[in-house]
Amino acid sequence: MADRSRWACRWRGIIGGASHSGNRRFPGGLGRASGGNRRARLLDSDIRNIVCSDPINTWNEMEPMPERRKLIAGNWKMNGLHAAGLELATDLSKRLAAAGTVGFDMLVCPPATLIHPVAQAVAGTPLAVGGQDCHVKPSGAHTGDISAAMLVDAGCAFVIVGHSERRQNHGEDDALVAAKAAAAHAAGLIAIICVGETLEQREAGQALDVVASQVAGSIPSRADAANTVIAYEPVWAIGTGKTATSADVAEVHAHVRATLAGRIGDPDAVRILYGGSVKPSNAAELMAVDHVDGALVGGASLIADDFWGIAETCR
Ligand code: PEP
Repeated sequence: MADRSRWACRWRGIIGGASHSGNRRFPGGLGRASGGNRRARLLDSDIRNIVCSDPINTWNEMEPMPERRKLIAGNWKMNGLHAAGLELATDLSKRLAAAGTVGFDMLVCPPATLIHPVAQAVAGTPLAVGGQDCHVKPSGAHTGDISAAMLVDAGCAFVIVGHSERRQNHGEDDALVAAKAAAAHAAGLIAIICVGETLEQREAGQALDVVASQVAGSIPSRADAANTVIAYEPVWAIGTGKTATSADVAEVHAHVRATLAGRIGDPDAVRILYGGSVKPSNAAELMAVDHVDGALVGGASLIADDFWGIAETCR
């Protein structure tokens, strides 16, 4: 059966508000829909009501729409000092600019200290910048935290929430992740919501249930395909060199897609990334799996050739 996403709703970008970074608009699908016709205006104003009350969303079913554009996102984690971070980001932005039209969006998520300089260095190029976490509140007495509004102010368009390292090392649960995603949306950021099972859970045959439960519990109200990306990252594959098989990835991603129905606006258009030891050598196979709409990359995103090599498999 044809993947309905290829005929899904008109892509609706949400990037708006003040921009000093120059990277808050993206080519090929992430800019705000021009709204030149009645249907686009209707979608802008009413999409949540329409889609949430009618997940099947037959009203524009016959209109051919763009495929989900792949997103290649780099999570630098707690890596990178000023000079090396700028060199990496600048290198990637130059490659992107030289490549011209490509079939993917590219994002780097540096540590908080580098967000603003990196955003300034890549301003005006298609390379997007994101944060690795945000607080649920816009400001206040939260020592060491960073708010979604601050990320926007520093030049971010995205933020990762619910990464397994946050869930495990900082005790973050689904409710907190959903609140962080809601805070991100309120500030105008696209939230990349991470989910994934542990090795014990996979071996106990619970992977699909765990992931579905995390997806259901971590998506805030008012989430839609334009402001939310899901990243499936099996915990046992992160930073270990172990990668899930294509069959396992296909099974989980299809299950995530099914779980999104009725829980998020325009579920067929939501991008679902795979993360977990993605490298140039395994990216082509993983990116070809149904419902894999890009990659969230840790270690390999710190090496320009490797990160670019992963992205090139989506060209
Ligand atoms: C990650 O941290 O999200 C990740 C997928 O890391 P790695 O690519 O190193 O496994």
